[in-house]
Amino acid sequence: MSFLYLLQRIKAVNLHSSAVMKRKQFLKHIAAATGIMTLVSFDKIGEFLDEQDNTMPVLFVGHGSPMNAIEDNQFSQRWAALGREIVTPKAILCISAHWLSKGTFVTAMEHPQTIHDFGGFPQALFDVQYPALGDPKLASDLNQLVKKTQVGLNHDWGLDHGTWSIAKNMYPNANIPVLQMSIDYGQSMQYHYDLAKELSSLRKKGVLIIGSGNMIHNLGLVAWNKLNQDNYGFDWAIELNEKLKEKILNKNHADLINYSSLGAAATLAIPSPDHYIPMLYALGLQDSKDSVEFFNDKLVGGSLNMTSFSLSHKVLNSSVPSVNPIDSTQVDSANLQ
Ligand code: ZN
Repeated sequence: MSFLYLLQRIKAVNLHSSAVMKRKQFLKHIAAATGIMTLVSFDKIGEFLDEQDNTMPVLFVGHGSPMNAIEDNQFSQRWAALGREIVTPKAILCISAHWLSKGTFVTAMEHPQTIHDFGGFPQALFDVQYPALGDPKLASDLNQLVKKTQVGLNHDWGLDHGTWSIAKNMYPNANIPVLQMSIDYGQSMQYHYDLAKELSSLRKKGVLIIGSGNMIHNLGLVAWNKLNQDNYGFDWAIELNEKLKEKILNKNHADLINYSSLGAAATLAIPSPDHYIPMLYALGLQDSKDSVEFFNDKLVGGSLNMTSFSLSHKVLNSSVPSVNPIDSTQVDSANLQ
């Protein structure tokens, strides 16, 4: 009997027993009877079964090549699976590495345009339109919510590929409103981490917040002839990928904010922080109930990684099978953005 099956059985029985037995008492009874105590604490079971907890997950997604938007590969397949696994959000708020600004802005238009902010790619990528609606009311709410700074309401940006390459795979019908919030590039790493905390209440309002970048992102050192080699990373990139994951798991956010102190590998991996900062937004939103689950944990072309993670109160079902799983990244373009 699998662990998940057992939990589902407990959950089903629990729904019929709540009138006669308080939940935790019931769980203790069942856990003692099944020996489940050896697997997981009572509190963990309680979190899993907490029907009242509507807190949305937070994602940090390594977006990599814009071609991931239209290629059927291991990364895009995982994004599509996430779209099936996560409860359907009321809206998406994405902090993309590709919208750097002076000051912080949020898109506030009804119909955000699809921005093709790259060059040298096939026409098929330029032909992509992602016609998700905006949500001016949510933009206005966010403007009121944040006290740390004045979040400007923007009417001329839209959705750049850091957002739509992911959203297109997660929600191909474009039926979820999408907002972007810009990165004030003149601010410190701590500023971004702290600003994210002010967005936390949106998670309880059905908003899926996504940081979209890449933890390791040195385009100048990419081994272009190795792009099709699965999980190819330089030694320093492998080292830093492991170190970053360890610090994320241990909630050592101070070290992650102060990434420049992580040594030579970090200096090589993060020559500029534009693609790193979106991860700080995800980390800033982590609360005490969130557990981390990594996905797309792969290196690409030596000096990039796709390592991503979800933060969630509930266990995401990572066993949902991908469609047509493949072994290679199929990144075959000469340009990455
Ligand atoms: Zn990018």
